[in-house]
Amino acid sequence: MSSKEQLTRLGLFDAKVPRYTSYPTAPHFAGGVGADTFARWIGAIPAGSEISLYVHIPFCRRLCWFCACRTQGTQSAAPVRAYLDTLKAEIALFGHHLPEGVRISRLHWGGGTPTLLEPEMIRELAEAIFAAAPMAAKGEFSVEIDPNEIDAARISALAEAGMNRASIGVQDFDGEIQQVIGRIQGYDITRRTAEMLRDCGIGSLNADILYGLPHQTPARIADSVQKLLSLAPDRVALYGYAHVPWMARRQTMIPAESLPSPEARLKLFETARELFLWDGYAEIGIDHFAVSGDGLARAQTAGRLRRNFQGYTDDQADVLVGLGASAISRFPQGYAQNAPVTSAYAARVRNGAFATVRGHEFTQEDRLRGRMIEALMCDFRIDRREILERFAIAPERLDDMFRKAAEAFDGLPRITGKGFEIPPEARPLTRMIARAFDEYDLARAGHSAAI
Ligand code: SF4
Repeated sequence: MSSKEQLTRLGLFDAKVPRYTSYPTAPHFAGGVGADTFARWIGAIPAGSEISLYVHIPFCRRLCWFCACRTQGTQSAAPVRAYLDTLKAEIALFGHHLPEGVRISRLHWGGGTPTLLEPEMIRELAEAIFAAAPMAAKGEFSVEIDPNEIDAARISALAEAGMNRASIGVQDFDGEIQQVIGRIQGYDITRRTAEMLRDCGIGSLNADILYGLPHQTPARIADSVQKLLSLAPDRVALYGYAHVPWMARRQTMIPAESLPSPEARLKLFETARELFLWDGYAEIGIDHFAVSGDGLARAQTAGRLRRNFQGYTDDQADVLVGLGASAISRFPQGYAQNAPVTSAYAARVRNGAFATVRGHEFTQEDRLRGRMIEALMCDFRIDRREILERFAIAPERLDDMFRKAAEAFDGLPRITGKGFEIPPEARPLTRMIARAFDEYDLARAGHSAAI
């Protein structure tokens, strides 16, 4: 690891940079991409190919203060029922435009709280999706599971629908931290959920844990990580808590003075990271860990790791279609996003149209820079030969981009015979170094801390 002084001087503890789950990032999407473009891009998916599908359920029983997800609180089933009917109409429209023989290699239900759906709603949603496009052989169907909002009947319905990977949000098991972030979820209920999922034949468990939470200390995060490890998750995402109350108003409930300093955040991350490594997990990209043999670990070894809106993936599909309010799709042509507000989304779909309201059509420069940023985020290196073969860029211009990015970071990134590389000691700077390859103006976007 580079010295703290060097990381400080390079701005790690002050920087606000994107997480680069897309390029350009969502704040740069604009109104030029609408429902007609979305329909055209769906129609251009090659017949017989495999795609990823993301389905968004924007409801939660209660809203946790730390969470910046696009979701709304509800105590009754009526709005969920109405939303499901709209979603089914959107799925049918999507199926109508989809070329012959397209199958789903990855299906993910996220939110919000997808497990808010009653068992019969789960069955209806799965039927609607598979009527539009069947799962591919060896396809993965994952669902975000809220341990506070799940029971045996829902798990059975999900398993019968084909769910084979479950994702559990943990945040932190410490009681005081849970009080302050407005999310109570004890270890016992989380463990019971993991056991119920495994009893139902769900072979693969993902978990999310957060560093940088209020009142978090190295001892507290170590305790939470050890509890999490006792559940033996196959994959873990160790995300930094992003305190952005100007974007997520409910975060104003969290006193800013209870948050750890940027230097303390780095220490929290390193404490958790070391525990995962000691336990034999492979480090995946900047913030994921996976047991050996897991798809992400295999993809990383084979140089096939990719990055999308859900973080890291081993999925090789060129198309990720997002359905539901606020969902984002990625096509080889560009990004398309649905209306974020549920009522506006529903009004469009009720009129028989897709709900796309904004997006971004790729230029060749976007494709070039997007690939270089993805390569840094996934592999910590850019392969010079790959870039020269795939993109029309002069070798001198590429070498110049490498040189400028290396110089901007004290020469910590290395320029080698094979290309550009971030050595292990400079990896906390990865998102900042990726920023050096981003040509968009980040000033108008409220990004999160670099660490
Ligand atoms: S953490 Fe989960 S349950 Fe809480 S508000 Fe966010 S999406 Fe909803």
